[in-house]
Amino acid sequence: MIKKLLIANRGEIALRIHRACREMGIQTVAVHSKADAEAMHVRLADERVCIGPAAASKSYLDIKSILAAAEITGADAIHPGYGFLAENATFAKMVEEHNITFVGPHPDHISLMGDKITGKKTVQALGIPVVPGSDGAIKDVKEALAFAKKNGYPVLIKATAGGGGKGMQVANNDTELKERLGIAKAEAKANFGNDDVFIEKYLTHPRHIEIQILADTHGNVLHLGERDCSIQRRHQKLWEEAPSPVITEKQRHDIGEKVVNAMKKLGYRGLGTIEFLYEDGQFYFIEMNTRVQVEHPVTEMVTGIDLVREQIRIAAGKVLTLQQKDIKIRGHAIECRINAESPETFMPCPGRIDFNHVPGGLGVRVDSAVYTGYTIPPHYDSLVSKLIVHADDRPKCLARLRRALSEYVISGIETTLPLHRKLAENADMQKGDYNIHWLEKVFLKGQ
Ligand code: ADP
Repeated sequence: MIKKLLIANRGEIALRIHRACREMGIQTVAVHSKADAEAMHVRLADERVCIGPAAASKSYLDIKSILAAAEITGADAIHPGYGFLAENATFAKMVEEHNITFVGPHPDHISLMGDKITGKKTVQALGIPVVPGSDGAIKDVKEALAFAKKNGYPVLIKATAGGGGKGMQVANNDTELKERLGIAKAEAKANFGNDDVFIEKYLTHPRHIEIQILADTHGNVLHLGERDCSIQRRHQKLWEEAPSPVITEKQRHDIGEKVVNAMKKLGYRGLGTIEFLYEDGQFYFIEMNTRVQVEHPVTEMVTGIDLVREQIRIAAGKVLTLQQKDIKIRGHAIECRINAESPETFMPCPGRIDFNHVPGGLGVRVDSAVYTGYTIPPHYDSLVSKLIVHADDRPKCLARLRRALSEYVISGIETTLPLHRKLAENADMQKGDYNIHWLEKVFLKGQ
């Protein structure tokens, strides 16, 4: 079993990983930038190593420094969390070459899914339905126009190496397509160092529904139901729930089975999320994430399974002790991502938290690494806290969420708490009547 694990991340996910390790009797090593010396996971870890200055490129993305920290401390495993190096196949490979366990999938599967075109082609061949799209990267404008003519507008131009909602452009007609293809390619090159783009049909009213899977190294694969992550701004998730308000037991079973069979054929190991758009009763694959997701807690709340613990056990070569028939979805869970941003303009608002009072009580969980007196550095993403609420059914969950949000106080900085309070009161949200465009096109327009 793993004895000492290095956490190659920061913020709430670093703390989340530390907590799982503590409960499993695994020692932890926190690596941190100079800006994060006072961070909670650094304070709580058994050992800490400063790996560089504030800039992520010189610390959390610096593979050599992280590997050196692992060698110095004698860590026998590295957990990459999400973001930073979590989906960097070179990193995963280098970790394994140093005889350190990488808590994640095989590097080949990271590369396969890191390229959206190969990812899509791979799962399609394994029996998973995909969004209609171009057959590979678009070579020129002519090919793009031909796709649009055949499939109709609107279309979406996507970067094959894209992520984090970046590198996407919608086109509604030939003129826009000609214009935006160049923009998309330039953006893809600037953000991801690869200007390959492909085209998909742009769905007009889908929900974002993703399936959580768990696969060990002994050929066992389980699905843990879905998460509905349709509340998004600029293709970034803000609120997630499990189960989805619109998915039936049969649909969950059918899509879950397809995904499990595909992952078995692929020989995948570890945690994985297969993301779909869901429109008019049909699922369309968009991408697979080969890591723990920000929104994993909603699945944990409804299944009672500690995903990070399972992820570490799998990396250590253990057999999954659960079977598909043991997975039961109980009640309803909602997660609100609380960001250090203006709730109106969404401009980041880093700074000192003067007072931090978290809600509690039955069914309330707060995954956050901030505390009173903590200063949020301006160098990283703006997530300050995840409020997760669980109850017997969706109406009770929403009532509990409103109660928890009314208790939550974070002062000194602006946060998106007021936005979540309004969302939890909203009539469409109460009905579960929303899709990926609703927040921007309906809710925020009405503010
Ligand atoms: P990223 O890797 O940048 O997160 P994804 O492919 O996962 O990109 O897509 C992110 C979001 O973009 C989706 O949740 C959805 O809101 C939107 N999106 C992606 N593909 C389409 C599509 N074909 N039609 C409409 N919206 C889409």
